[in-house]
Amino acid sequence: MKSIRSRLLIRIGILLIILFIIIQILEYKSFREINIYHAKNQSNIVAEMVRDSLTTLMNIGQIDKREIFLNNIRMHKKNIEEIRVIRGDKVVKQYGPGNPYEQPKSSQEKEVLKTGIPYEELEESFEKVHYVLIIPYKAEPKGKIDCLKCHDVDAGDILGAIYIKTDLSEIRKTAFFNLLNTSIVSMVIFIATIFVIIRFFQPYTEFFSKLKKGLSKAKEGDFKERIFINTQDEAKEVADTYNETMDKLCMTLTSIENKVSYLIGGNTEKSTNALKDTYKIVDELVNIYNFKKIVEKDASKEDIYMRLRKLMRDMKIKKYSIYEVDYERNRLIDIDESVKWCKDIVFSNADQCRVKRTGSEVISEEYACVCPNFINCEDGEAEELFSCLPIFVGGRVGIILQLVYTKEEKEEIKRKTPFIEAYLREVAPVIEAKSYMEKLKRQSLVDQLTGVYNRRFLEELAPKIMAYVSRKDITVGVLMIDIDFFKQVNDQYGHSVGDVVLKKVASVIKNSVRQSDIVVRYGGEEFLVILIDVAPEESVKVAEKIREKVEKTTIATGGITLKKTVSIGVSEFPTDGEKFWQCIKYADIALYKAKETGRNKVVRFEPEMWENEEY
Ligand code: GH3
Ligand code: MG
Ligand code: MG
Repeated sequence: MKSIRSRLLIRIGILLIILFIIIQILEYKSFREINIYHAKNQSNIVAEMVRDSLTTLMNIGQIDKREIFLNNIRMHKKNIEEIRVIRGDKVVKQYGPGNPYEQPKSSQEKEVLKTGIPYEELEESFEKVHYVLIIPYKAEPKGKIDCLKCHDVDAGDILGAIYIKTDLSEIRKTAFFNLLNTSIVSMVIFIATIFVIIRFFQPYTEFFSKLKKGLSKAKEGDFKERIFINTQDEAKEVADTYNETMDKLCMTLTSIENKVSYLIGGNTEKSTNALKDTYKIVDELVNIYNFKKIVEKDASKEDIYMRLRKLMRDMKIKKYSIYEVDYERNRLIDIDESVKWCKDIVFSNADQCRVKRTGSEVISEEYACVCPNFINCEDGEAEELFSCLPIFVGGRVGIILQLVYTKEEKEEIKRKTPFIEAYLREVAPVIEAKSYMEKLKRQSLVDQLTGVYNRRFLEELAPKIMAYVSRKDITVGVLMIDIDFFKQVNDQYGHSVGDVVLKKVASVIKNSVRQSDIVVRYGGEEFLVILIDVAPEESVKVAEKIREKVEKTTIATGGITLKKTVSIGVSEFPTDGEKFWQCIKYADIALYKAKETGRNKVVRFEPEMWENEEY
């Protein structure tokens, strides 16, 4: 598309050239006509003069001197190239043919002699221009000269004619130079006109091109272009309105952008398209808001982790891991055990995790191995990069989201990180609330004195254990443990010492079984141990181990040192009974047997012990 400026220039140029040509043609034409008019006029005067002179010469009998007279004219009128008097038939008849050049030469001359109509012609060639006029002399009976006096003719007869050839070449040359002069002057005037017009239109053409540029940039979301114009007219009004609109748009967008980007951490990447950027941020904020609303309704932390996994999928992050900090045991727990991007050490010592230790995000942006415990980090070099982002729970790092990516993906992750952090910020209070809830629930199911589960927990757990056992086809060992002669401790040393003994025995029991086994304080000084997935008849061995350990344990408190023993009744589910509660009862029966038969021993339940069917 051509610019307004070039279109204007072309149109004015063409118009002025046409005008110039027309003026030049008109000028040439009028010049030519004036010259022909003058030549014709001069020829007529000369013809008149010649006729009068010839008459006079005739009257005074000097007609034979007529050539001298014509020579005079030739001499004085330089532009008359040829002048001849031609004799008509009647004169030839009366006076003879005269000089040879007085005979008609051309058909035109003969025609004039015959018809009495003057003939004129303009002979134009490249070198010369001639004007030829042949005027007839008619016999006039009256007036100051009476031709009939001397000539033997009738009135109106053609006596002869005069041939005058005028050279207009010089005049044409002068005309050409004049034309050239006026052409140059007009050319200068035209160029000046074009210049003035262009100068006049320049601010407007500039205005339009700036407006075009500004609007096409605005279309792409860039509102920074402004238009300045030095006129005081409508164009200035349009420019001012445009600038004002762009200022307002910029202000509004910047303020929206700042406010919303503040909400997501304030370091979102900016492109040249402010509109698109703002739209993207607002869109992401809506997503974050919706995410928060969904997460709030989630039942457990597990559900929230599931949402985080979905978020990672939606954000097209392929490699990531979620870790939970276990402050009780000071270790990191990998939520998805299949994907681990940290060295084993952090899973046994949480202080080896840089995020947990420093309480801030750790990104391997500048240093590949900013955290040496990243799994691929060898000799300070790592093939992949990582970003570990903390989620604060209760004022400390509770959860860590670890993103793992290649160097090629670095920029993309950098762009996504503020958004991910915004999601994590929204999720943190919800996780915190859920953690507290879980802790509270755990506490309500845990015995405060010994730290092992209470009977309420057992009630909740029993149906799950039954379902698990039938599904997995495994054996569960049930140990009922009672401290021997515990009452004596209370009686001898007081309740507080009794409490210490209870705690110690509980801890000995806990440390004697697997992590997956469940220890419950079943009664005052009675503990129930549920051994998940034991080999058949292995429960007795575990019970014996516990008994031995307790027996060997020395309890020291408040200057007192004492040792205690336990009696243990053992049953196995579902080997001994179809129902779990039934097996607990059987273990209790076995325990009773142990007490009966001397204490500090393990008794395996035997069906013979079962005397009463209504347990
Ligand atoms: P055995 O089981 O060997 O037959 O004798 P025992 O003395 O252990 O039996 P008993 O059931 O008579 O005594 C249990 C005592 O445990 C009674 C109670 O005062 C005490 N006890 C129960 N709960 C607690 C507790 O939380 N702290 C303390 N210090 N004592 C408790
Ligand atoms: Mg007891
Ligand atoms: Mg007891």
